Amino acid sequence: MANDEFTSIRQWTVRSAGQEGDGLRVGIGDDAAVFAVAKGMEIVACCDAMIETIHFLRETMNAEDIGYKAMISNISDVAAMGGYPRYALISIGVPPHWTVDECERIYTGLYEAADKYGVRIIGGDTVATPDALHLSVTVLGEVEAGKAIRRSAAKQGELVFVTGTLGGSAAGLHMLLDARTPGRNLASGFEELRLLHQRPEAQVAAARLLIRCPGIGACNDVSDGLASELWEIAEASGVSVYIEQDRLPILPLVAAYAHTVGADPVDWVLYGGEDYQLVGTVAERDAAELQAAFHQQGLPFAVIGRVKQGPPAVWMDTEAGQKALAKAGYNHFQRS
Ligand code: ADP
Ligand code: MG
Repeated sequence: MANDEFTSIRQWTVRSAGQEGDGLRVGIGDDAAVFAVAKGMEIVACCDAMIETIHFLRETMNAEDIGYKAMISNISDVAAMGGYPRYALISIGVPPHWTVDECERIYTGLYEAADKYGVRIIGGDTVATPDALHLSVTVLGEVEAGKAIRRSAAKQGELVFVTGTLGGSAAGLHMLLDARTPGRNLASGFEELRLLHQRPEAQVAAARLLIRCPGIGACNDVSDGLASELWEIAEASGVSVYIEQDRLPILPLVAAYAHTVGADPVDWVLYGGEDYQLVGTVAERDAAELQAAFHQQGLPFAVIGRVKQGPPAVWMDTEAGQKALAKAGYNHFQRS
């Protein structure tokens, strides 16, 4: 980094200047930020770090994408609790091979995601690191007191739902990794899959419908793949989860791309991750009303299975019979 730290911070966070008001008493520029919490609400807090070469490659994610996605993954965790995001703090460790201007582009992405979901960046920390870029985002949100949706709340007999299509991020990554070979381009006709990997959306509107549903059970966001998220629910709740392969929502473009490259899109759904949809459980008597509320807002909602009594496990009905799903998520860079 060429600039001194203070000049850099000011350059990156110029958009946070003068943002006090609407509950925010002290923003960037003091020792810490100060904000008020709305009456009857509690704070939801989460933190997620992204490290160069472990969580992203510069060949598949530009600086803006890295910032955007680091913010989205945290907003998605707040949504998974049923809350809405309000504030973010950013910790960045900058190695010598990243310039101040490239870091500013990370902030462009951070602000893009923040603006989309009404989040204000209110502080952070800036340090130098010897090698890989570190980007850690903390998001603070609000949720109605005592109402946060827990992973541990799935009950026997509930239906399992997802809030949108799955496997798209893994398809996009597959295409981006494939295009790294010199002389190769993004697969013709499938270019937009790139956005499913680099510019996913967080399901905050869906989360707010879930929290109003009296029969809501458990919820989790799909960051590591459907199998892994369902396993977390199964273990935390002490139940068996059964899903049906036929019901998994997969975009036609994702299925078509998988066909072209000889991959199985169901693997991407189960083990790909980073789709940032919500997966949860709901009492059967409330499922139709919840689905109607989703459709009224133009949001997708698909029932994919059921919670049953039994030891923690995840099962899927396939044409070839019922199979136990492995607990594993996917290591993104093992396949390259
Ligand atoms: P201190 O030395 O008291 O810890 P700093 O000089 O590190 O404070 O930070 C000054 C202000 O800039 C604080 O409001 C802090 O939250 C903010 N800040 C520092 N680094 C970043 C960053 N990378 N992104 C956003 N805000 C930051
Ligand atoms: Mg200080």
